[in-house]
Amino acid sequence: MSDLDRHDHAHGEESTLTDIQKRVKALESILVSKGLVERAVIDQIIEHFERRVGPHVGARVVARAWTDQQFKRALLEDATKAINLQSDFPEVGQHLIAVENSDSLHNVVVCTLCSCYPWDVLGLPPVWYKSAPYRSRIVSEPRSVLKDFGMELSGDKKIRVWDSTAETRYLVIPQMPAFADTMSEPDLANLVTRDSMIGTGEVLSLTERDVNG
Ligand code: FE
Repeated sequence: MSDLDRHDHAHGEESTLTDIQKRVKALESILVSKGLVERAVIDQIIEHFERRVGPHVGARVVARAWTDQQFKRALLEDATKAINLQSDFPEVGQHLIAVENSDSLHNVVVCTLCSCYPWDVLGLPPVWYKSAPYRSRIVSEPRSVLKDFGMELSGDKKIRVWDSTAETRYLVIPQMPAFADTMSEPDLANLVTRDSMIGTGEVLSLTERDVNG
């Protein structure tokens, strides 16, 4: 598609852009004019992050783990391999590790060094995940941080904090709620939130899902 073909927006659009949007547009124009990137490639990257990767992928993985014990076992053994063997999931990168919550154990994920995050299954990381207070406090006082996120864990539940690195990315498998016992895999996936797969949130109740949906 030529630049002329792309000139299909309403005139005056520039004035409605925010500063950051203008800067991104300017940067894109420079990179394209210098031949460093192609617009089609940028479009592909945006498409990738908007549609292909995101928490909806992780949610489907969790829902399948809830309904297919064999898949769950494989997932806990080698998450990358297990997911990539499923023909209907997008391919994920190496070093993905799934950790499972139970009645006695709650898992939560951080990257204390920077912001390593399982993009393939959760998409772009939330801002707080990259913040210094989260990265330090979740290690030193996890129970209190989880309380700030609205999670009241019983005193006898152990909390395990997993520190991501460039080599290891973690996906938390939350517990399936009892009410969800007879639900289909797509319905189950709708209950699984991004934060529940980081360990800083719960899965949705039916009421919450209906409000969100
Ligand atoms: Fe990191």
